[in-house]
Amino acid sequence: MPAPTLSEMPVVPLSAPEFGGREWQYVKACLDGGWVSSAGPFVERFEQMAAESLGVRHAVAVVNGTAALHLALLAAGVEPDDEVIVPSLTFVASANAVRYCGAWPVFADADPATWQMDPARVEEFVAQRCRWNRGRLINARTKRRVRAILPVHLLGHPCDMDSLLRIARRRRLRVIEDAAQSLGASYRGRPVGALGDAACLSFNGNKVITAGGGGMVVTQRAAWARRARYLSTQAKDDGDEYIHRALGYNYRLSNLHAAVGCAQLEQLPPRLAAKARIAARYREAFADLPEVACPPVAPWASPTHWLFTIRARGRGNRSAKLAAFLAGQGIEARRLWRPLHRLPIYRGAEQIGGAVADALYAGTVSLPSSTSLTEDDQERVIAAVRGWVTR
Ligand SMILES: *Cc1c(COP(=O)(O)O)cnc(C)c1O
Repeated sequence: MPAPTLSEMPVVPLSAPEFGGREWQYVKACLDGGWVSSAGPFVERFEQMAAESLGVRHAVAVVNGTAALHLALLAAGVEPDDEVIVPSLTFVASANAVRYCGAWPVFADADPATWQMDPARVEEFVAQRCRWNRGRLINARTKRRVRAILPVHLLGHPCDMDSLLRIARRRRLRVIEDAAQSLGASYRGRPVGALGDAACLSFNGNKVITAGGGGMVVTQRAAWARRARYLSTQAKDDGDEYIHRALGYNYRLSNLHAAVGCAQLEQLPPRLAAKARIAARYREAFADLPEVACPPVAPWASPTHWLFTIRARGRGNRSAKLAAFLAGQGIEARRLWRPLHRLPIYRGAEQIGGAVADALYAGTVSLPSSTSLTEDDQERVIAAVRGWVTR
């Protein structure tokens, strides 16, 4: 038999969805009952389950995590020409949601110890580059009002929230958590997503659990939840008379997606256990390799290990080389996101440092971390990384 060509070689995926629960049963219930669209029992159930699991009072299900961020920022009162502090190192959606509001991101560098948004950089910005003007915090250079901080719990690891919340309280800033990658993580024993004024979840296909697509705004603030729900349903003031006083959006989640989401949320604890097992195995396998650093875990963090991301020691662009090497072996590995201050769309944006994010971008690669990853496949990944290191 001829050797398999590269395209025929089994690919070990980075983060594949896994459906092992009641997904079929719930989707069938939607189809049988005719409730497939934006009304239906699963939407409410999905919201209740998510709110309960985080210990927050309100949850509003929407079409995706990006829409959740957009609505949370609007509910927080972010207005055109405001500024919102966002980490340099995150997926572009975090900053784009700020622009959807007509506001501007200010990029804060990562903390080298945690890879998360660095509270020291945020403090540096608000203390040295902003001033008070009639009860408002103003960026002295741009003259824009600084309204909020948007910490992103990257790769399943929480940010140093007490430090960020302290800064926010002193400067009267709102805090919107981007918990898209970190459902199930906790910070000092408190669930991520219940720490700021509001938080956003994503149920995209590559996250810890998926609804096929979906997002959620969660908050303790009834007024914010009301506002988010109102804006998500075309800002309907009177559905019969078609009266709209605000610019709304069609962001509501469908019952079909919520049905999948409910079945997946029921599976969250075993999925988190699988992620933790995978992370522990990688750690053990690379413990003797000085060339490979495993992702940091802060003492106050209980992460979800969404993607296990290693850092190759050395100089130059190791991440692209390592990712390409692994791809050649049928292993889907991915570099972290290009720091947002490097993106053409955000050229000229305000930034507070950025060298740490740049260095992480040049040196890190996320390894296959699907909850369905078999031990054999993980051994393949480990052997490939070892092979690259000792090449
Ligand atoms: C996935 C993700 C989003 C966006 O979620 P979607 O559901 O894909 O719109 C936002 N922020 C971060 C950090 C993400 O990883």
